[in-house]
Amino acid sequence: MEELYLGCHVSFHRQTQLLGSVKEALSYGANTFMFYISSPQNTTRYPIDLENQKEAIAFMKTHKIDPSKVVVHAPYIINLATLKNREFMINFLKEECKRVQAYGMTKLVLHPGSHVGLGKQKGIQNIIEALNEVLKEPTSVVILLETMAGKGTEIGTIEEVIEIIKNVEKKENIGICLDTCHLHDAGYSLTYFSSVLNLIETSIGLEKIGCIHVNDSKNEKGSHKDRHENFGFGTIGFSVLEEIVYHPKLKNVPKILETPYVSVNDEEKKRSFPPYKFEIEMIKKKKKNQNLIEDIRKFYTS
Ligand code: FE
Ligand code: FE
Ligand code: ZN
Repeated sequence: MEELYLGCHVSFHRQTQLLGSVKEALSYGANTFMFYISSPQNTTRYPIDLENQKEAIAFMKTHKIDPSKVVVHAPYIINLATLKNREFMINFLKEECKRVQAYGMTKLVLHPGSHVGLGKQKGIQNIIEALNEVLKEPTSVVILLETMAGKGTEIGTIEEVIEIIKNVEKKENIGICLDTCHLHDAGYSLTYFSSVLNLIETSIGLEKIGCIHVNDSKNEKGSHKDRHENFGFGTIGFSVLEEIVYHPKLKNVPKILETPYVSVNDEEKKRSFPPYKFEIEMIKKKKKNQNLIEDIRKFYTS
């Protein structure tokens, strides 16, 4: 019995596609992962390499990665809260659901959107209507609305996501993705994580939690900044994050790191390295590695 699904954001390249992403995840010791089909900002889509896809799924099986725990992230520019480019946004998401399914996955994380001046209530209404439209076509994909830091006019407090979920008709196709950095920056205290869980348990049910982004934060609680920090090295801290990762009620939920790459030194930002191998090792050991950053630099430069 697997008791921890722990992975990280990995890249996805046009040439190496899913197989490349799986290999990257395995190189970090992850048993799940998250990827963007293309890149976070990009809505250009290339045909799915079916040979590659088959090989990737077989490779995942060999290495005990369960596709139902793997997460796809929709591009940032998809905004369902306004009426701008409405048709494009809705059609893109319909097609993205098909692609997620074609790759063999079921989880699709989506930022709820920014109302850009329309006001929260109107924005929420727009999101609900758009999601109901997107989900008219039957799909096995579950869209997971991510909780946001509240930058600008972002929608995505826990309460707002709950309200949206309650109004989406196809309940089986909608859920929530918690991002610890975002929750903290939005003003929730993660030291009292049980009250966060309570909010969800009593409204939509804990089974609606489909993914958790386990990031530390560079800023104070309630700052609405959204700047991720390496696991245990920010204002949330190792023990609070560790408790969330190992929470008994969240056992089956994949935990995904979206922590920042580490640069060669504090000045040069051009060359930087993925922290995930070291963060995953540390989380599994359940003990903070005070030399994490130095260890990452040493590993990639020597
Ligand atoms: Fe996100
Ligand atoms: Fe996130
Ligand atoms: Zn973020």
